[in-house]
This record gives sequence, C-alpha cells and structure tokens, in this order.
Amino acid sequence: MTDRAIDMAPAIATRREEAMGFLEGLVSKGLGWARSFSLFVYPYSTACCAMEYMSVAASRYDIARFGAEFPRFSPRQADLLLVVGTINQKQAPILKRVYEQMCEPKWVIAFGVCASSGGFYDNYAVVQGIDRVIPVDVYIPGCPPRPEQVLDGLKTLQEKIQRGRHGLIERPAPQEPGRSGAVELPQGPPRR
Ligand code: SF4
Repeated sequence: MTDRAIDMAPAIATRREEAMGFLEGLVSKGLGWARSFSLFVYPYSTACCAMEYMSVAASRYDIARFGAEFPRFSPRQADLLLVVGTINQKQAPILKRVYEQMCEPKWVIAFGVCASSGGFYDNYAVVQGIDRVIPVDVYIPGCPPRPEQVLDGLKTLQEKIQRGRHGLIERPAPQEPGRSGAVELPQGPPRR
C-alpha cells in the first residue's frame, strides 16, 4: 500500500471509542471548570506592584469572588504563580526553582510591566520579561496595573484553563504490603 493510500484510508472509530471520547470530554470539562475556580496563588512579590496585589485581595475588589482566594506561601501547595514586580538576574534562578516546586498542573501570570517585559528597567541587572526564565500564560500590562486589569487577567486565565484538556492523574500502583521502604542488607559471610 502506498503512502497516499494510507493517508486516504477512512478513520474507523468503534462505538466504544466514541463513548470513551465522550466521557473523557465530559471529565475534561468538569476538571477544567473545577481547576479554574479553585486556584491557589503563590504571590512572588518583589516590588511596588505588591501593593496592587494586596488591593485586589482586599475587600474592595475581593479576588475571592473569582475562586482565587487563598495565597499560599509554599510552592508545593500552589498552582498559580503570580509574579508581582521586578525580577533581577540574581532572583531568576530562585523564581525558576519556585516554579519547578509547584504542583501540576500549574499556571503563571506576569503581573505588571516589569514582570512582563522588564518595564523601564532596560539594563543588565533586570530580567527583560519572566518568560525568559519560566513559561507564562497571561501577561497583565500596566505600571502598576489597576485591580480591574488584574481581575481581567485572572478571568482570561480561567477561560484558558477551561478550554484546555484535562485528564485524571495516574498514580503508581501501591506496593505490596510489608515491602514498602524495606531495605535488604547485603549478606555477609556465615558466622562460625
Ligand atoms: S510595573 Fe511599575 S509598579 Fe509594578 S513593580 Fe514595576 S515599577 Fe513597580
């Protein structure tokens, strides 16, 4: 059979595959909805934009209305990294380490023009955008951004999460009872 013939062969999907695809779509949609409205934020705040973050989190703008209420100061408990402020070259490896320690799936927002592009700090000491260090999902412009802009950026991220494909996490099979953590010591010569 030629390559062309292979390309033109009709795709055959059984009823079982169709049903599985339908179920996976439903699960993905449900997980996307749940994940988008249960974001645990790690605010990586370094500069003046942090005041604006506090304003968004406080009662007047109340980020809790959008399901991103809890700031977490351990990356292992967070799935949204909010990079708030200027990142200089010395901080870049720390920011990367924090990102790597976060749980999966995870997302990143560049909060303000300094995090997005270095802002007006066009010099050798400042990272010219955090996307040179870690992947970024949403950029929020402004110096500093207004709280409404931040909420708009958050909603943009939530829409992106809901559009994404989500699957259940496959966990490794449990070990046999009695063998977990057991260390077998090497056998020495028999005692006399
Ligand atoms: S964007 Fe403006 S307000 Fe935000 S950290 Fe930079 S200089 Fe400060």
